[in-house]
Amino acid sequence: MSPCHVLIAGGGMGGLCLAQGLRRRGISCAVYESAPGIVRSGYRLHMNAAGGGALRQCLPDHLYELYVQTSRAKPRRERLVLLDHLARELGTRPHIGPANDPERPHTAVDRRALRQIMSVGLDDVLHFGRTVTGFEDDGERVRLLFTDGSSATGDVLVAADGIRSAVRRQLLPHVATVDTGARGVASRAPLTDELVAALPAALFDGFAIATGPDGTTFAYGAYQPRRPVAEAAAELAPGADIDPVEPYLMVNFGLPRNGPLATEVPDLWRATPERLHAAMRTAVTGWHPALAELVEHVDPETLLRQSLRHLEPAEPWATGRVTLLGDAIHAMPPTFGAGANSALRDAAALANALQRAAQDDSDLLAEIAAYEADLRAEVFPVLRASADPRSTSSDFLPDDLPVAHR
Ligand SMILES: Cc1cc2nc3c(=O)[nH]c(=O)nc-3n(C[C@H](O)[C@H](O)[C@H](O)COP(=O)(O)OP(=O)(O)OC[C@H]3O[C@@H](n4cnc5c(N)ncnc54)[C@H](O)[C@@H]3O)c2cc1C
Repeated sequence: MSPCHVLIAGGGMGGLCLAQGLRRRGISCAVYESAPGIVRSGYRLHMNAAGGGALRQCLPDHLYELYVQTSRAKPRRERLVLLDHLARELGTRPHIGPANDPERPHTAVDRRALRQIMSVGLDDVLHFGRTVTGFEDDGERVRLLFTDGSSATGDVLVAADGIRSAVRRQLLPHVATVDTGARGVASRAPLTDELVAALPAALFDGFAIATGPDGTTFAYGAYQPRRPVAEAAAELAPGADIDPVEPYLMVNFGLPRNGPLATEVPDLWRATPERLHAAMRTAVTGWHPALAELVEHVDPETLLRQSLRHLEPAEPWATGRVTLLGDAIHAMPPTFGAGANSALRDAAALANALQRAAQDDSDLLAEIAAYEADLRAEVFPVLRASADPRSTSSDFLPDDLPVAHR
């Protein structure tokens, strides 16, 4: 039984990587993405060897090269630095997963730029503005259903539609979403030479998190591509729809549950960007002057509201023609910067599984079952570790983390 056509619900990190991986392996697919395009402003993603290795396996060589050239080079330290509000170092924490390619490290990317890179060459299979509502599975074929009443039919359906996955809610309705109560606002400040010179060096060491006396946090991560995005794209993917990205410092404002600012920003989703920016200013009162001044440089147009939610690891489920990847099955808190890396890892693993099924005429459902068992063994420990309250403040790495993630 060979899979002939794979339906992918969601064109985010995992869905696009899977589409590239399937095309590279000669397997037909179509991606259905609800958004009208790649519209949201980008934020910085920490990349580890799981994500980088998956991109190497899935992207055509020129796009993989474009990804590497537009990634951040090696930072001074590979551990996450913990600071107090006066920028004094309190300790460090590991990232999960080994670093990428010591020869030409690729340690961070702009998420929107990477999505644009992963979209190159998919024009005929990437469908924007198609919102999935559910599916029908008769055991032989799967029908994907859309809000406009239309449908698409294939042999396999992959839920790559993120934490609110419509496909997962139908397939595994018992999987619980946990709201940690924490809320955040991601933002970006353009990186100028003056700003780099004024800020504590720790903010450029890799990734840094400063915590104030009231529990408010600010997380900082620089995106400084080794080559300008526009220049690299013009050479490696001429004519592709890839926007320039100037270097920036990602500034993520974390509001603790029931913290003092919880009353100031009662409804994150209704507050105007100006109000959120004002709350960020209030939060850094009494902080290190350069950290306080940094908030003034934040571009309000880049503010992105976040509620920190994650999924409970699902009990093993019966394998069928509908499977899942990424946040749709293991959305995790951002503690270790592993969510996107894990989604990419899944995409490569699933592309390989579907290729084996197609080439060897081995059993499709057995290959999907092996992929799902591997996902549970590899990624669920990362999800559990990321959701463990001990993980945010210490050198904690749980014993059951697979060796590949240490
Ligand atoms: C501020 C921030 C910083 C982060 N930093 C890191 C980091 O440093 N490293 C890291 O590894 N991870 C990081 N993450 C997590 C990472 O972004 C996610 O884990 C990753 O994007 C998950 O990929 P995915 O493909 O599973 O889902 P997504 O990328 O969320 O893609 C899902 C897609 O499905 C679409 N969709 C949703 N519903 C439907 C529907 N009904 N029909 C059709 N399409 C639908 C969505 O529009 C979206 O495009 C961060 C997240 C945030 C918010």
